[in-house]
Amino acid sequence: MVKVYYDDSVKENALEGKTIAVVGYGSQGHAHAQNLRDNKNQVIIGIREGKSAEAARKDGFEVYPVGEAAKRADVVMILAPDEIQGKLYDNEIAPNLKEGNALAFAHGFNIHFDVIKPPKNVDVFMVAPKGPGHLVRRTFAQGFAVPSLFAVYQDATGKARDLALSYAKGIGSTRVGVLETTFKEETETDLFGEQAVLCGGLTSMIMAGFETLVEAGYQPELAYFEVCHEMKLIVDLIYEGGFAKMRDSVSNTAEYGDYVSGPRVVTSDVKANMKKVLDDIQNGNFAKDFVDDNAKGFPKFKELRAKNAGHQIETVGAELRKMMPFVREND
Ligand code: NDP
Ligand code: MG
Ligand code: MG
Repeated sequence: MVKVYYDDSVKENALEGKTIAVVGYGSQGHAHAQNLRDNKNQVIIGIREGKSAEAARKDGFEVYPVGEAAKRADVVMILAPDEIQGKLYDNEIAPNLKEGNALAFAHGFNIHFDVIKPPKNVDVFMVAPKGPGHLVRRTFAQGFAVPSLFAVYQDATGKARDLALSYAKGIGSTRVGVLETTFKEETETDLFGEQAVLCGGLTSMIMAGFETLVEAGYQPELAYFEVCHEMKLIVDLIYEGGFAKMRDSVSNTAEYGDYVSGPRVVTSDVKANMKKVLDDIQNGNFAKDFVDDNAKGFPKFKELRAKNAGHQIETVGAELRKMMPFVREND
């Protein structure tokens, strides 16, 4: 069973007297920086000039180029996009790391797949909130928090674990619970979840359902409502109370159909395919493909993005959502 840590597991703040450089001021960056500061930690921001830099200054932070921030800091939390972290690290962060510093991440990808190879004399830890940055900040301001995972990859000082837990407390997560993991487990489960189920699995499932109805002669608008628009209602119920609440809330016809037809769609073949996706994550094939495409300027990524954006479900959906301005209220 997973070990969970709370506020009282962290008696002393291992970050006291240390300067934390938060690199990046986007979704995670702004939330970590502000929560840590509210908890009396010393935070500076490392960022290139642009929109994020302006936002950080407006929020009252000292802002430096990434290299300068890394030089001034004891702990460097890298919250730039995953695909640019390798270059950013090599060019600006690595030359400014000193023995006994700590390097921190909110996702294990670059460490686990050796894109970033830290020197042996620094601590390397991860604190990964299980939610987007605006929730990390909003829940903190409300007195709650988003739970986080934490892990230690390298403990050069003997203090890496204390630092990670203090960081997790600094962003608020120990208020609700922090779960211990490893870089390997966090990275592989995160990639699997987004590929097989959350992003890849879900959109492919919706598209297959949409195409099945449209090819059978049904109107695309109805197909969109039935297989896409209503998804949120179902997912909200599962989020709130598991499958049980969803099945309690839908009609008996829908619940019966769920049991008899779900396993006819997601068959053991589908699970075998999921296993292959997991294999490619575990053996590094997915990471290599992504990193190589990134190095070439993402030609494959851009082609896939363009191809998917042209699907009929997207054009039909865009028209229908104009009838429902309320669905856009979270913009
Ligand atoms: P965002 O895209 O929201 O923010 C990235 C930030 O990095 C921006 O402030 C951007 O600034 C800055 N940046 C981009 N390029 C550079 C550069 N070359 N030099 C310096 N700064 C740069 O990223 P996220 O917050 O979503 O992700 C950060 C990390 O957090 C990732 O490792 C991600 O996996 C992890 N994570 C994300 C979660 C999420 O829900 N978003 C959840 C948990 C973990 P600019 O405005 O100038 O582009
Ligand atoms: Mg992910
Ligand atoms: Mg129905």
